[in-house]
Amino acid sequence: MEEFRSFIRSNVCLADYTRLGVGGTVEYFAEPESESQLLSLLEFCCNKNVPVRVIGTGSNVIVPDNGIAGIVISLNKPAFCGINSGVFGEPFITAGAGVKLVQLITQAVTDGFGGIEGLIGIPGTVGGVLCDNAGTSNDNIGQWVESVRVANLDGTISTLSKGEITFGYRSSSLDTGVILEATFRLELGDVSELSKRMQKCWIVRKSQQPFSELRTVMAFNSTKTGTSASDLIEQVNLKGTRIGNAMISEQNSNFIVIEQNNNDNKNTGRSIVDDIKRLIQLVQDRILEKTDIELEPSLRIW
Ligand SMILES: Cc1cc2nc3c(=O)[nH]c(=O)nc-3n(C[C@H](O)[C@H](O)[C@H](O)COP(=O)(O)OP(=O)(O)OC[C@H]3O[C@@H](n4cnc5c(N)ncnc54)[C@H](O)[C@@H]3O)c2cc1C
Repeated sequence: MEEFRSFIRSNVCLADYTRLGVGGTVEYFAEPESESQLLSLLEFCCNKNVPVRVIGTGSNVIVPDNGIAGIVISLNKPAFCGINSGVFGEPFITAGAGVKLVQLITQAVTDGFGGIEGLIGIPGTVGGVLCDNAGTSNDNIGQWVESVRVANLDGTISTLSKGEITFGYRSSSLDTGVILEATFRLELGDVSELSKRMQKCWIVRKSQQPFSELRTVMAFNSTKTGTSASDLIEQVNLKGTRIGNAMISEQNSNFIVIEQNNNDNKNTGRSIVDDIKRLIQLVQDRILEKTDIELEPSLRIW
């Protein structure tokens, strides 16, 4: 990795890069400054069989306490965080993978481009939300995609049109490479109407999710038939259940909130990541036992 030392660090604690602020280290952490740096790194890792992962805002991932091998790449530098909107007056907007979803939505609304404003409040980057096909019960980011530029793991680049990408429920076929940027085809709308709708959606979301708790993650996906995970968790009386430092939120039972950080934990010797894993397992077991439904975690444990 010597040749990449200007943008790579070793043994980096990923707690600093995940929303929950817990978890172990990764062997190498890269923050490339340009596309060419990223591509050479990917080619190198491919030739040397180094496992590669990408992280956005880390809202949907946690890392085991004993750490992970390989490299984690963050596209948080300006080269990956540009937005280009309304070229030729058409409702197209192109955003780098490192752009926060909130920035993308705000820019679209400001330009009078509608469609994605209902997704306001979902934390994440363009890369993360596309990979997860993040959304609400009736809308998801994938449906607005026109094309996506992806760096393949061998260091080559492909531009995929929407027909070449599969978006499933909280999943996509984009999880095999590094998303570089995406173009969205939106709808022309009235700026003040779109702003009002965005604000309304934001207020509704804030009232439904534990936003006052910074250290929170969404735990499960809804079922394939659309039953919400929070309804199921309440049905089996697990709202508010706590294991160690991890607790099922009182406000919305599909969220896990944690109360201590890694340093506090060093004093007690307790692993918050283990607490979270055990809580997820408890919910899955109880729901399977009582309802015969297999609830799928949305949180990715690396
Ligand atoms: C309070 C809260 C509320 C939430 N509400 C919702 C909701 O309403 N609906 C919903 O769908 N989700 C929700 N989530 C989950 C989360 O917002 C989404 O999963 C989001 O997609 C995470 O984006 P991220 O940038 O943080 O991705 P990360 O968590 O960093 O990564 C998620 C996945 O994306 C991959 N990835 C990230 N960047 C790239 C890239 N450039 N190229 C390829 N792969 C990449 C990662 O490898 C990982 O597999 C919520 C989470 C929280 C904490």
